[in-house]
Amino acid sequence: MTTDTPTSPARRRRVAVLGATGAVGQSFVRLLANHPWFELAELAASERSAGKSYAEAARWIGGDPLPASVAGMQVLPCDPGAITADIVFSALDSSAAEDAEPAFARAGKTVLTNAKNYRMDPDVPLVIAEVNPQHLSILDAQRKARGWSGAIVANGNCAAIVASLPLAPIHERFGITKVVTMTMQAVSGAGYPGVPSLDILGNVIPYIKDEEPKIEVEMQKFLGSVSGGTIQHAGFLVSAHANRVPVEHGHTVCMSIELESRVEAAEVERAIAEWRGAEEARGLPSSPERALLLSDQPDQPQPRRQVNTGHGMTVVVGRVRADPIFTVKLVAMGHNVIRGAAGASVLNAELMVRRGLLGDR
Ligand code: NAP
Repeated sequence: MTTDTPTSPARRRRVAVLGATGAVGQSFVRLLANHPWFELAELAASERSAGKSYAEAARWIGGDPLPASVAGMQVLPCDPGAITADIVFSALDSSAAEDAEPAFARAGKTVLTNAKNYRMDPDVPLVIAEVNPQHLSILDAQRKARGWSGAIVANGNCAAIVASLPLAPIHERFGITKVVTMTMQAVSGAGYPGVPSLDILGNVIPYIKDEEPKIEVEMQKFLGSVSGGTIQHAGFLVSAHANRVPVEHGHTVCMSIELESRVEAAEVERAIAEWRGAEEARGLPSSPERALLLSDQPDQPQPRRQVNTGHGMTVVVGRVRADPIFTVKLVAMGHNVIRGAAGASVLNAELMVRRGLLGDR
């Protein structure tokens, strides 16, 4: 996390986490417990957890201790009437997000969600802070169309975020026409308790429910443009294969990419190495020094070695080389729970503070 935050707001804004007991919810708790701009004021989860202390309700799955300031907080129900904070991070299971998230937005809250439910709605910005911050400009149209005083801002699917970061400079500079992706996704991507150990230990599962269709559409929205209050998707085609592998954290994505014209792999490498992303997403408390890091090692990226690069916010890219069928191929790897979920939402919220899109309550 960057300590130099020149645009620090005058006071910390109170925030709540919905689905605080799950894998992504716990990551939010870690990132927000001592955040310079946000005060973690409220935690909510299902009826199973509501009324209990957080320490009692959440089976803490990190190697680090549960922050003492959070352990005794009472878990609240996911009901807008029970939550006073105006900024709400959602790590809800999609079955609960469907009704809860619009209810919070209707009640005037800004919901930064990780659930899949509203990501592809044309008036919901699907944002990676460094890639498409300008998509936040459709929020006025969203509020008007839905009659909400609050709003929903979405994070992408974790594999789609890891894949889209290196595609951003490539599309910007050379124009992408086709992408074939093959993922090797960590078990933490399935939440807690997630995949049974006897199914995944020493094994590869070549199926993750609903994953491939998400990867096949979200990248075009990230790399699309704003037009008349909605997002015009980028026009390239994506074919995705998704696999679950026995890795704790870190999704690895192998990609073969066809470009509009013949381009040398070295030029693509240069585009990735030089890219810094949107200027307005730099220097925020959760901004990594670099959102993309190009490795020159022939056997990298590797989740065990590099998943925590940039405090889990950097996607490491390697093996950029010519593709005999398409134009170029590469491997990208990023932390699914941080860059692919909670960290990305917190960074989006910081960006919204900088843009003056969040109140100061
Ligand atoms: P998880 O570990 O299964 O946690 C789910 C959370 O939702 C828990 O806090 C649970 O509370 C709560 N919940 C479930 N049913 C509820 C209900 N009816 N009402 C209120 N709360 C309810 O899942 P996760 O991996 O953290 O994922 C959370 C969301 O983020 C999902 O939508 C997922 O698709 C998305 N996502 C996950 C990742 C990842 O890498 N894991 C990445 C990107 C996006 P209780 O403990 O009380 O049951």
